[in-house]
Amino acid sequence: MRYLLEFFHQKVPKAGTEMPAYYHSALMLNESILALYFLAFEVLIYWRIHKVGILPLALSVIMILIIRSSKNMSMRMNNLTYMLVTLVWCGWYIYSFGWGSGGQLMLIPMLAFNFFNIFNPPWRKIINAVGLIIFRMLLYYWSLYNLPAIPLDSASHVIFQTINSILLFIILSVDFIIFSSSIQDTERELRIDNQFLHKEADTDPLTKLPNRRAMQDQISSFRSEFPDSPFTVAIGDIDFFKKVNDTYGHNCGDYTLQQLADLFRSFSEGNYTVCRWGGEEFCFFMPGKNIDEAWNVMFELCEAVRKMQISFEGNEFSITITIGLEENDFRSSIDRILEKADKKLYMGKVAGRNRVVM
Ligand code: GH3
Ligand code: MG
Ligand code: MG
Repeated sequence: MRYLLEFFHQKVPKAGTEMPAYYHSALMLNESILALYFLAFEVLIYWRIHKVGILPLALSVIMILIIRSSKNMSMRMNNLTYMLVTLVWCGWYIYSFGWGSGGQLMLIPMLAFNFFNIFNPPWRKIINAVGLIIFRMLLYYWSLYNLPAIPLDSASHVIFQTINSILLFIILSVDFIIFSSSIQDTERELRIDNQFLHKEADTDPLTKLPNRRAMQDQISSFRSEFPDSPFTVAIGDIDFFKKVNDTYGHNCGDYTLQQLADLFRSFSEGNYTVCRWGGEEFCFFMPGKNIDEAWNVMFELCEAVRKMQISFEGNEFSITITIGLEENDFRSSIDRILEKADKKLYMGKVAGRNRVVM
């Protein structure tokens, strides 16, 4: 039912939009196979019946002309001509040789094309499909009450039926390979794009660290996965960062943030995950660590920051950070725990900066 509803709510691209490449390739291949098929029938007819068939030759020429001019022709015209040629062929075939040798099989690829054509709205696909079955049944009823114009001997019957059946399988296989691989390719590309967008949405563009949202997600999933496990969070803020901007310029401020992010990354393994919390603030998440263990890690980091020399366009300077720590108390919400860490950070600023407060 859901699929049926989705089918009827398909979005149909506006007229003039380019036809998808897979549809174009399938159409070109079908037309090429048909051109050869008509020529093969020309030979077969001459061989079995000793006649020259005007129609197979004409249809083959039409197919070749269409393939040659497909670049300058609208896809709609191309598609329509392919459909008309197939209908004329099937009609002529049944009229000439009757039902038994399989000329009507060529209607089946049209059904596949009809449903894979993204430019047909659903109602038109259904009308086309109904039209096709009516056309096929009319041919069948006609063949019941009329003798073929060119009766075939039984050997020719077998040969014609064999050629028609093999060709149907070739055309359908080619079409399905093209259609299904295009769907798989599109799906793969979408999945890759999606992963990329997800990563982009979770990453801070300046420092390439995860952003606040990614960190909040990470802490929440840890808490729901390991509700009994301790963890500590820390919020660090650069001291007097405004001065860096004011003294050396905004670009230098950006560079400092990037250098600091590199330093944080180099210390992170086995210790914490870090994100850019916003502005010149960073958040550290230390799963499994109690506040004392976390304090040691952060103290070491604080020292490393203090010792780091930053060189930018001939200027050399160093910075310090102040960090506030808070341990999971198994009661408070994550926001509340982070808020407490922020308060401790503020206490550290008031107490003179360049320190870790727990
Ligand atoms: P405190 O020790 O009290 O934290 O002093 P501070 O100067 O670091 O604090 P304040 O909040 O007054 O200033 C933070 C500055 O960080 C202000 C803002 O321009 C700067 N800043 C925030 N984000 C960025 C950024 O992405 N790039 C640069 N260059 N500066 C930034
Ligand atoms: Mg700040
Ligand atoms: Mg600051």
